[in-house]
Amino acid sequence: MELIKLEKPEKLIDENNIRVDGRKLNDLRPIKMEVGVLPKANGSAYVEMGGNKILASVYGPREVHPRHLAESNKAVFRCLYRMATFSVDERKSPAPSRRENELSMVIGQALEPAIFLNYYPKTMIECTILVIQADGGTRCASINAASLALADAGIAMRGLVSAVAIGKADGKLIVDLNNVEDQFGEGDLPIAILYPLKEVSLIQFDGILTNEEFQQCINLAYDACEIIFNKQIEALHKRYSKEIIEKDNKKEA
Ligand code: UDP
Repeated sequence: MELIKLEKPEKLIDENNIRVDGRKLNDLRPIKMEVGVLPKANGSAYVEMGGNKILASVYGPREVHPRHLAESNKAVFRCLYRMATFSVDERKSPAPSRRENELSMVIGQALEPAIFLNYYPKTMIECTILVIQADGGTRCASINAASLALADAGIAMRGLVSAVAIGKADGKLIVDLNNVEDQFGEGDLPIAILYPLKEVSLIQFDGILTNEEFQQCINLAYDACEIIFNKQIEALHKRYSKEIIEKDNKKEA
C-alpha cells in the first residue's frame, strides 16, 4: 500500500466521505497475514495492515532465566516490541525508547488473557515483535501478528486476539487509522478483542469523544475485529491445512 506523506492535509475526509488514502469511513486497510515464516522460532507470523509490516516470533515455553523469576503456578509471559531503525521517516535510534517499552507492556497485557499460562508452570513464553515498517496502528497490527505467532507455537489459548484502532477525523468516526489520521485526527482508540469470547483485552484512548461516539467506536471495533479475526483464522488454516496435506502426501508416497 502506498504510504502517504506525513503532512497535514487540508482535510482528512472529503465531501463524499472518502479518506486521504481513498478508503470509506469504515474500511480497513488491506491485510496480509502469513503464519510460520521463521522456521527457527517456535512460532512466527508476518502481518501487513496497510503500510504496517510486522514480524512476530515466539520462543517457549522454556526454562526461565534467571531462575528466581520463575513462577510456580504459571508461565511468565514476556513481550518485546521494537521498531527497526528504518521503519519510520526519521531514523529511529536503535536504543529502546520509552514508547517501545510501554508498548511492549501494553501488547503483553492485551495478549495475556488469551493464554492458558497455568498450563506451563515454571516456564517462560517470550514474544518478540519487530516493526519493519510503521504507518499508524502498529500496536494493533503487532497484537494481530503476535496472536498468530503464539498459536503457531502451539501455545494453549482461549482464542485469538484481534485488534484495530478506531478514531475520529473531521468530526467523523473512522476505522483503522493510518499515520496521517493518527497524527492529525481528533481521537485514537486502539481496541483488542479476544475471540471467540468477544472480550475486550485492551482499550486505550487519546482525544475527545462524546459518550455516544465512544459507544459507536466500540461497535465499529467489534465489526472490524471480526473481519481481522476471520483473516487470522484463514492464515492459520492456510499454514496448517498445507502441512496436513503435505504429511498425508508423504505417508502415501
Ligand atoms: N512513529 C514514528 N516514529 C516513532 C514512533 C512512531 O514515525 O518513533 C509513527 C509510526 O508510523 C506509528 C505512528 O507514529 O505507527 C503512531 O504511533 P503511536 O505511538 O500512536 O502508536 P501506534 O499507532 O503505531 O500503535
